[in-house]
Amino acid sequence: MTTTKRPSPDQATLDAIARAVGPKGVVTGDDAAPFLSEWRGRWPGEAALIVAPASVEEVCAVVQICAQNNVAITPQGGNTGLVGGQIPFGDEILLALGRMRRVREIEPLNNTMTVDAGITLAAAQTAAAEAGRLFPLSIGSEGSCQIGGVISTNAGGVNVLRYGNMRDLVLGLEAVLPNGDIWNGLRRLRKDNTGYDLKQLFIGGEGTLGIVTGAVLKLFALPAEKITACAGVSSAGDAVALLAHAQAATGGGATSFELMGRRCIDLALKHIPDVRDPLESPHPWYVLMEFSSGQTGALDGAIEAMLASALEQDIVKDAMIAQSEAQTQMLWRIRHSISEAINGEGLGARHDVSVATSDIPAFLDKADAAVERLAPGARVVAFGHIGDGNIHYDVVAPEGAGKHALDDKRTEIETAVYDIIDGFNGSISAEHGIGRHRRATLAKRKSAVELDMMRAIKAALDPQGIMNPGKML
Ligand SMILES: Cc1cc2nc3c(=O)[nH]c(=O)nc-3n(C[C@H](O)[C@H](O)[C@H](O)COP(=O)(O)OP(=O)(O)OC[C@H]3O[C@@H](n4cnc5c(N)ncnc54)[C@H](O)[C@@H]3O)c2cc1C
Repeated sequence: MTTTKRPSPDQATLDAIARAVGPKGVVTGDDAAPFLSEWRGRWPGEAALIVAPASVEEVCAVVQICAQNNVAITPQGGNTGLVGGQIPFGDEILLALGRMRRVREIEPLNNTMTVDAGITLAAAQTAAAEAGRLFPLSIGSEGSCQIGGVISTNAGGVNVLRYGNMRDLVLGLEAVLPNGDIWNGLRRLRKDNTGYDLKQLFIGGEGTLGIVTGAVLKLFALPAEKITACAGVSSAGDAVALLAHAQAATGGGATSFELMGRRCIDLALKHIPDVRDPLESPHPWYVLMEFSSGQTGALDGAIEAMLASALEQDIVKDAMIAQSEAQTQMLWRIRHSISEAINGEGLGARHDVSVATSDIPAFLDKADAAVERLAPGARVVAFGHIGDGNIHYDVVAPEGAGKHALDDKRTEIETAVYDIIDGFNGSISAEHGIGRHRRATLAKRKSAVELDMMRAIKAALDPQGIMNPGKML
């Protein structure tokens, strides 16, 4: 959908919006800056007004005024998105959800939890744990990102292998539609075959179809024990083989199975304080794995035996099992700090792609060859969620060449990587979404039939195009 330029909102309309949220709900002056820049400093934003409603009714009042006056809205959660979807261009109002952060209800018997959209993911996890339950979604930004943002980006993270991504973890949804109607779909049902599953339109909708204000989330039993281990392997192919081996040996006991190229460890050692090399000698690839069980002692010996047989079969070159919480934290610290460590080397060219798990080694071979051809000496930093086929394939400038040395090659590298992904029938965005960043790429690479369906849905729900224009479609 092309973005038609709409006039800037007039002062009377902005005043009406401000009145709808009251003085506490209007963000001005120095307080505005954090809402208008994002994590990598890539897309500076501007907004006609920033409002932070405190209730669904206030969101509804704001959206109604916007709909009546053709004013565009950019919803923002924790502002941790990596594709610029939460940053407005200038003529939109920014609607921040951070004041709506109540846990509305936890029902242990249903294994459900109903929350406001503005609660952080970490606060939702804590509230579930305090009720003796697990909310399993876990991502590096969980202290800041919000449930509404996690829903709107269909976030994934390190536990998708066992529990699925956000699309699998939402039972019900409440949203304010672009015309200002409130849709109360806060059902706690695990079975509901009454037609289209409307909540799925908003999950991964990136704020283009409405504003998520509340959700019913699925909870699980808290694991009684967790074992974390790290293995050094010679190739990505061996890492894929190790996943199958580990799942067979533990009855599908893996909750996380994370692949990290050696360069991830080197950059973490260089840029992140208090990081230690996980194994005695370096290996081309590392697998960080976590296993969990509802029964204490059920995994005792199983992980050790699994790793011993993987060593015997030469799938693994070396391995360690974390013996303390401190060792476990150290391993996860490396994994969670990779993006930050890469930032220390400049922006480079970043990709968040997915292929079938078994295609990961072939994808890496082809992509590495293309990068070396286009930018000799450029450093590939590849890591990701191997069980989900999701590779963060990042490319930074050659050692010593300077943070911007790859800037003029970025588009060429991205095009080559996405061409390879198309060859595997993969996805150009496995978990971060489209936002502003991949909008043009989506338009080029999604089939005409798919784009037509997406545009028809957008036009039906948001005929004025006021919800997050210039993003995704
Ligand atoms: C260090 C780090 C690690 C990360 N790790 C992962 C990872 O492992 N997996 C992963 O999937 N992502 C990851 N991310 C990306 C990011 O954290 C997720 O995309 C997250 O879900 C965004 O949530 P947020 O609340 O910050 O949303 P924002 O960044 O504020 O917004 C993201 C998008 O959702 C829309 N939106 C936000 N709230 C609402 C709402 N209530 N209603 C409608 N639309 C809304 C915005 O308009 C925007 O399009 C990581 C980011 C960082 C910085």
